[in-house]
Amino acid sequence: MKRRRISKGCLFIISAPSGTGKTSLAGRILDTLPGIRESVSYTTRQMRAGEAQDVDYTFITPEIFKHMLKGGEFLEWAQVHGNYYGTAKKRVEDILASGADVLLDIDTQGAKQFRQQKLDGVYIFIFPPSLDELRRRLVKRSTDAPDVVEKRLARAIDEMKDFHFYDYVVINDDFETAFKDIESIIIARRLLTSGLNMTWLENTFLGKQT
Ligand code: 5GP
Repeated sequence: MKRRRISKGCLFIISAPSGTGKTSLAGRILDTLPGIRESVSYTTRQMRAGEAQDVDYTFITPEIFKHMLKGGEFLEWAQVHGNYYGTAKKRVEDILASGADVLLDIDTQGAKQFRQQKLDGVYIFIFPPSLDELRRRLVKRSTDAPDVVEKRLARAIDEMKDFHFYDYVVINDDFETAFKDIESIIIARRLLTSGLNMTWLENTFLGKQT
């Protein structure tokens, strides 16, 4: 039976250092949990093999990015590894207007900007199982020289220091467990009294007519 959704749409902000498995976890959430969609970010970085325009990112030139920034089109933006990334206001608003939740996979700089704007949302930080495992993953997936891997690791450690900006911490030592943790956070948020769709609740149970 398809269950009625009783909550308003909410923002779920997920951050994690690269090599933590965040992209796979976010993918599983989007594939299996109804009522949540990702806001596709804009970026100036080059498209990687296997990526698609408007699916992984909307790939744009630095000139277009600057133009959008000037026009106030981003809710937040950041520079990561020399490239610009931004979350478009319109994309987030469209998803929320459709009644769905929004999943944002953004770095800690972006998450802090959301916090500063006091945007209501649930902030989730994902840790790797250990520093050794993170280094192993970065080496395995990278064609970069060892000093570049060390730089990425240093940035990862820097990002981990920001975990206290987040509401929840999930450790990705086991994919299924980490997925269940995130799923539980999303489900719990949807059941919060403060997130309920009050019109529906009042009409259905409290005898009020709008
Ligand atoms: P990648 O280029 O490897 O896909 O992503 C690099 C980093 O940029 C990741 O930490 C990712 O979460 C972050 N990122 C992706 N999109 C956005 C965005 O719209 N805003 C911010 N602040 N970070 C983003």
